[in-house]
Amino acid sequence: MTATGGCLCGSVRYEIYGAPLRSTYCHCAMCRKATGGVLVPWITAPVPAFRIVKGNLRHYKSSAPAMRGFCPDCGTQITFWHEARANELDVTHGSLDNPDAFPPTRQIFAASRPKFMKGFDPDLPSRDED
Ligand SMILES: [Zn+2]
Ligand SMILES: [Zn+2]
Repeated sequence: MTATGGCLCGSVRYEIYGAPLRSTYCHCAMCRKATGGVLVPWITAPVPAFRIVKGNLRHYKSSAPAMRGFCPDCGTQITFWHEARANELDVTHGSLDNPDAFPPTRQIFAASRPKFMKGFDPDLPSRDED
């Protein structure tokens, strides 16, 4: 199974090989700021399963242990990496060509949700931290 995706402007394209490890809604405030979205769904894959096939990401440290990768031309956030799970890479659901292929099955940082998101997808397992 291979998933494909890329940024809004098309400068960056990527492929993910094999099935993702997880698919997660993140409600944390940092993901909100990083993407401008009120919640951010991620798929998680082993680092070697992710390959840039066109263009290059630019990276910045969004906190001491974490790195985010985005398209330097249009700003679409593509990746999140955290040193506590250095062998995994999170990829924004919204940058996938077919986001329906990997529906999120859990929610993290639920306590950080904006109040108007209270009760969002109550059937999914929900944690107040990661
Ligand atoms: Zn772009
Ligand atoms: Zn987050």
